[in-house]
Amino acid sequence: MSAYKILISACLLAQRVRYDAKVIPVTEPLIQQWLAQDILLGICPEVCGGLPTPRAPAEIQNGNLISTQTGSDVTQAFKVGAQEALDLALQHNIKIAILTEKSPSCGSALIYDGQFSRKLISGEGVTTKLLRENGIQVFNQFQLQQVAALISAPENR
Ligand code: SF4
Repeated sequence: MSAYKILISACLLAQRVRYDAKVIPVTEPLIQQWLAQDILLGICPEVCGGLPTPRAPAEIQNGNLISTQTGSDVTQAFKVGAQEALDLALQHNIKIAILTEKSPSCGSALIYDGQFSRKLISGEGVTTKLLRENGIQVFNQFQLQQVAALISAPENR
């Protein structure tokens, strides 16, 4: 068994957890390889926070509030899910996470602007922020080669 694990958004593992309930097949060879090596630990913070699938999409309105377009405040669920992701990472001594870009939970470079206008801005999701505050490096699904380079370094084995 591998000595290390990588935390990964469950929707990147073809799990039915997305807000729209779509299942995205795993096509990336590196993810398939890491699955075969049993080093990926999937989690969906929003589902862990108690939100259903499907669910209304939510966006970060400002630094603290997350709500749906109709104004439902889902901040607490997002925070609970982020804490669960951190707890899981700490439990497995995880130092690296691969999270889905643009999500208000999992985004690591881009998020939507809070106006439900499909406009992207620089920012990070609630889970990404908490993981980074605790020393975990967060990458998105387009940075798999960077993750591969990182985990092949002796200090990360
Ligand atoms: Fe995927 Fe993260 Fe959204 Fe869950 S919260 S569906 S893991 S992007």
